[in-house]
Amino acid sequence: MEWKVPLFDPDIGEAEIAGINEVLRSKWLTMGERTTRFEERFSELVGVPHAIALNSATAALHLALAALDIGPGDDVVLPSLTFVATANAVRYCGARPVFADIESYDCWNVSAASIEAALTPATCAIVVVHYAGYPCDMPAITKLARERGLAVVEDAAHAPGGSLAGRAMGAWSDAGCFSFFSNKNMTTAEGGMLTTARADVAERVRKLRSHGMTTLTLDRHKGHAFSYDVVSLGYNYRMSELNAALGLAQLDRLGHGNAQRRRHVARYRERLAGIAGLSAPFAQFAGEATYHIMPVLLPRAAVRAEVMKHMMACGIQTSIHYRPIDTFSAYVAAGLGPSATLPLTHDVGARGLTLPLYPGLSEQQVDYICASLSDALSAAERAA
Ligand SMILES: *Cc1c(COP(=O)(O)O)cnc(C)c1O
Repeated sequence: MEWKVPLFDPDIGEAEIAGINEVLRSKWLTMGERTTRFEERFSELVGVPHAIALNSATAALHLALAALDIGPGDDVVLPSLTFVATANAVRYCGARPVFADIESYDCWNVSAASIEAALTPATCAIVVVHYAGYPCDMPAITKLARERGLAVVEDAAHAPGGSLAGRAMGAWSDAGCFSFFSNKNMTTAEGGMLTTARADVAERVRKLRSHGMTTLTLDRHKGHAFSYDVVSLGYNYRMSELNAALGLAQLDRLGHGNAQRRRHVARYRERLAGIAGLSAPFAQFAGEATYHIMPVLLPRAAVRAEVMKHMMACGIQTSIHYRPIDTFSAYVAAGLGPSATLPLTHDVGARGLTLPLYPGLSEQQVDYICASLSDALSAAERAA
């Protein structure tokens, strides 16, 4: 399918190409000095002492929970309106995901109140997701966690460069988990980062990402070490130098890209305001958002599949973020859904639609998308 407007379009330029070439010429391909530099720069961005590069955000979520000793018998409260990896990571640890509803039709994040309603006697941790890059109410959520003695992990896959009250997303909890998958605000093709202010968490995550080994290939290459011990059951979750080279180049684009996204969202809001029955969430939020995606809530009468077909006929790719995790077959089969306590999540899961958003989008394209969506909804009304 040749889209007039794709859902996303990564911003890749000469710096990325040069970075990849440099790595290949250097012949040092696996986790090395570029990865270390990428980690240093990312830790500055987030304002925490430790940033650990991994091969995905899924790995970051898994290791965050593992390093916090989450395991069998533990419940972890998290949203259902998120990518399935957020909940899968809980299950990798043998723990049970318990889903909390979103706050409201405007705020599609979990809140301290919705988390509190989902707490069980076995709850040990909370995983929050900054949906679309709009900050969760971290002061209230961390206060609740402190009172109940719970660990907090941020799935900040949508939120690199975002902040609340001057504190970066990913710096509000025991561990922040970022994704650099191709469609995220910055990409390394595949990749992730775990940020933490806790030295103990950082140390455990560094070991777990590389087989539980005490030294790295690079240390041995440099003559800093000749052998190693294995001190835990680890994984291979390392980032390669190729990915890190992309990440370094992408970090230089992040601020500008996020600012472009903000401008496009402002224009979207202006144009969408005239469409009857349609709303766009996060009309109100606190902090600096990163505008990862552009979700809207369709009128109840609209048939979403028909709207998506109409948009496709206009050459516009749309998507759904997200089908609630508790409705997936694998979650129902495991006795983890469907949940009766997520009315808002299920309604938004049924009526939500994601419109294209990326830095290189033009104002004309935004106008075209909004006009096409308006047509799609009138066509649906006529048909009804
Ligand atoms: C993309 C995404 C992930 C997974 O990221 P990967 O790097 O692909 O593993 C996890 N959570 C959310 C909310 C995401 O959007």
